[in-house]
Amino acid sequence: VADEAVRPGASWWVPERLGAASLADGVGHCRGCELHQDAEHGVAGEGPVGAALMLVGEQPGDQEDRAGRPFVGPAGRLLDEVLDEVGLRREDVWVTNAVKHFRWERGSRGNRLHKTPARSHVTACGPWLVAEVDLVRPRGVVLLGATAGAAVHGPGFRVGEVRGTPQPWPEDHRGQRTTWRPEWTLATVHPAAVLRSRQRDQDRAGLVADLRAAVALL
Ligand code: SF4
Repeated sequence: VADEAVRPGASWWVPERLGAASLADGVGHCRGCELHQDAEHGVAGEGPVGAALMLVGEQPGDQEDRAGRPFVGPAGRLLDEVLDEVGLRREDVWVTNAVKHFRWERGSRGNRLHKTPARSHVTACGPWLVAEVDLVRPRGVVLLGATAGAAVHGPGFRVGEVRGTPQPWPEDHRGQRTTWRPEWTLATVHPAAVLRSRQRDQDRAGLVADLRAAVALL
């Protein structure tokens, strides 16, 4: 079936005067792709402007969509735990997602099931990530999982090949450039993948080790 959704991309909704409030307001009104239609909230990143570290996940989940805030569900609780273990506080980092609206499908029990955003959704939403990097000006960016990795480095990026190892910020971000250039990115697994894993302890330890590597770079 052809995908006939119109995705003009988010650029038109990105405010000229960037601030945390104008960014959140712009995301809330964005119609850059169809995902806003079935979501309750557009979920912008949050944290202090000027944070040295930015964390990028995939997209809001069910609880994030209802709350309008990133990483407040089970994966967010795990993220808080592991941040604490590496000496970081959630309120000191900027936490966001590659895609700002929740993509989901109806489950057999009527519940909303996560559906991975398509490459075209990531591209449509890219201007928001560019805007966040230019607003926050982080020194480093931790990429949580494949979608975040592809959002920054392109669709050929493989987290498993470089996880835990700093990579240079790319010159070109899906056809757009950030004004601010972080010094590095560091890819690791998404906390939600740790929660789903059969080898959860091992994967959790890997996430902690990668975050320690990021902290050492700050
Ligand atoms: S997912 Fe991104 S591009 Fe699509 S409507 Fe939401 S904020 Fe805009």
